[in-house]
Amino acid sequence: MAKVLDGNRIRDEIKTECRSRVEQLISRGRAPGLAVVLVGHNPASEIYVRNKVKTSQELGIAGETITPPEDITTVELLAIVGSLNQRSDIDGILVQMPLPSHIDARRIVEAILPAKDVDGLHPCNAGNLVTGRPGPRPCTPAGIIELLKRCRIPIAGQRAVVVGRSDLVGKPAAFLLLHENATVTICHSKTPDLPAVCREAEILIAAIGRPALITSAYIRPGATVIDVGINRLDNRADVERIFPHDRPGSAQKLEVFDRKGSLLVGDAHPFDVAESAGAYTPVPGGVGPLTIAMLMSNTIDSAERRIGSC
Ligand code: NAD
Repeated sequence: MAKVLDGNRIRDEIKTECRSRVEQLISRGRAPGLAVVLVGHNPASEIYVRNKVKTSQELGIAGETITPPEDITTVELLAIVGSLNQRSDIDGILVQMPLPSHIDARRIVEAILPAKDVDGLHPCNAGNLVTGRPGPRPCTPAGIIELLKRCRIPIAGQRAVVVGRSDLVGKPAAFLLLHENATVTICHSKTPDLPAVCREAEILIAAIGRPALITSAYIRPGATVIDVGINRLDNRADVERIFPHDRPGSAQKLEVFDRKGSLLVGDAHPFDVAESAGAYTPVPGGVGPLTIAMLMSNTIDSAERRIGSC
């Protein structure tokens, strides 16, 4: 059976390190400051923001949540970002995505001062990533690298295949792996014979958003599979297809589905990945917990740079 890479354990390690970095910053003058902007009432975004704020409070990061109404205009939102850019006590600005469709999300991201762009999504920071210059890295891909390193999975010289080419996950994950000296292939929805390309991977990153797509046919025996996907199943037949009655563990998943009315699954098939991979991240409890931990780490990095340069 494959080794399970425990994201919760690594998140806790990172949080412990973050706590002592925050204490040092406080002893030098002030706590790091993180501003989160949450527009409207998207329920999923509200949960994400609540978790981010809770974690920042646990670590002693000074937080501020700004909650403009759904009908805020792009210009009004730009003004909020502009005022956060000016504030010396704010080191990180996060505008929770997705924004309502009438807002020009690109303009908002581009308005964030690159030094305070703790999500690492500003085009300047994308350029910094591609060219190997310092700067905040997108949190989920940064979490993947932390997880691989802390689990002592070798990256240099390995064949890595990233499935998914989003600006948020796939592309930055591929560049981070490249900078760690992996040989990297990026695949996407138009890649012919995806299983064959994936089977070349010693490290397979699935960032697709398709429940249980990655079956044994995609996994080189013994590979490390990092499952970024978070897919919510709300149909019992879909859950039963992935977790058939005759498999041990299925009853427990169906019980969770019946209790909650939905079930989270990754992009990797949970039974296949456990049988074929050498190591893998579970869903939940794999990559997910690291995203917030890396947001905290990026905020503290920014505060260290800014306080250090005062
Ligand atoms: P996205 O929709 O922006 O990108 C998905 C990518 O997958 C695209 O590049 C597309 O080309 C590719 N793709 C789609 N169908 C495919 C197919 N059949 N075969 C091959 N490639 C295919 O999504 P995203 O924002 O990159 O997120 C991907 C997944 O990761 C989602 O499930 C999302 O919820 C999850 N996610 C998790 C975290 C976390 O903290 N763990 C963070 C961000 C995203």
